[in-house]
Amino acid sequence: RSVAERYGFVEIRTPIVEKTALFTRTIGAATAIVEKEMYTFADQSEESLTLRPEGTAPVVRAYVESEAAQHDPIAKYYYLGPMFRRERPQKGRYRQFHQFGVESLGALHPYADVEAIALLLSFLGDVGLTRLRLEINSLGCTTCRPGYLQMLSRMVAKVGAELCADCRRRATQNPLRLFDCKNPDCQKVLAELPTITEYLCNPCRNHFAAVTHGLDSVAISYVHNPRIARGLDYYVRTAFEVIAEGLGAQNAIGGGGRYDGLVKHLGGPDVPGIGFAVGLERVMLLCQERAAAMKKTRTFVAAIGEAARAQVLTWIERWRRGGCAVEWDIDGRSLKSQMRRADKIGAAKVIIIGDEELKTGKAIVRDMLTKTQHAVPFDDLPSTVQS
Ligand code: AMP
Repeated sequence: RSVAERYGFVEIRTPIVEKTALFTRTIGAATAIVEKEMYTFADQSEESLTLRPEGTAPVVRAYVESEAAQHDPIAKYYYLGPMFRRERPQKGRYRQFHQFGVESLGALHPYADVEAIALLLSFLGDVGLTRLRLEINSLGCTTCRPGYLQMLSRMVAKVGAELCADCRRRATQNPLRLFDCKNPDCQKVLAELPTITEYLCNPCRNHFAAVTHGLDSVAISYVHNPRIARGLDYYVRTAFEVIAEGLGAQNAIGGGGRYDGLVKHLGGPDVPGIGFAVGLERVMLLCQERAAAMKKTRTFVAAIGEAARAQVLTWIERWRRGGCAVEWDIDGRSLKSQMRRADKIGAAKVIIIGDEELKTGKAIVRDMLTKTQHAVPFDDLPSTVQS
């Protein structure tokens, strides 16, 4: 809540149950959510209702119904709450899970995309999650995407026999989703297909360039993954995901994108939107795993002499900021007493640096478990600390 409020978002609470049509009309008929994951039932008057599988469509529905656009051209909401999807449960994937999400309505400018992504990463940083991978893509718009999809379907028709049954079905119903296939044989074939990037129209291309430029200017690093499709049909232009290593198969912890036509599609004014949702169970799992990993990989740095200590001060500050647990002996006692302390705090390895090491540019790294040691060039120390 505090991060969202820092970025100017206010809380919105929507009902857990909505009319089924809200989701079928927005998420898209040929998506996994609508095809097989929704908890749908009829109420006493035979109206079809669904436990919400995601937060964007309900927020947009509430926004349209309350005519909020008439009061303020910009509306920025955040929500927290349970979502329901009938997926196959496994670690990090549940049938009832919780999302924190934001929706920024009214801003067409690419900086709105940058703001949403920055908020997501600030939140993750605040709970202690660094070393995540932000993947970003542009999915084009109603002008340029249809041409790409037609071409993609034609290309897939040619290589169709090499693809699995799921891919062949997706190719006709929702070709962008092809890239989600996890089958290694399909992946080889799919890697050869052109991506949407070369097909973007100029406005989409410019928008994407402005988003990436904006991310650069606020020092957010990213990789362009031209195959991100996202599981919901309403996205246009920017789509992004935050990936965390160490979560196994369910390694996406958050994702979102732009949905400029959605408000109009739900009967409201032509107002653009951008948002994301992050899975709170996955955030908690990752926090626990990182905390456990930190304990295990604890590194102790034994610096001998003033010059070595000055060097080590700059290094360990950088490593600690990068999320590693590093301890050292600030007072610079004898090597023997430093080694004793390293042992006492349960360090997995000790990096030893004195005048001799400063000269050669190589530190001694001692594995406390196997009691073996070897020389490591200074440039390789960050990866030693992380491993
Ligand atoms: P999505 O709404 O599919 O873009 O999902 C956004 C985030 O919600 C994902 O990155 C996950 O962290 C989380 N999430 C989605 N589905 C599940 C699930 N079945 N169980 C737990 N977390 C989920």
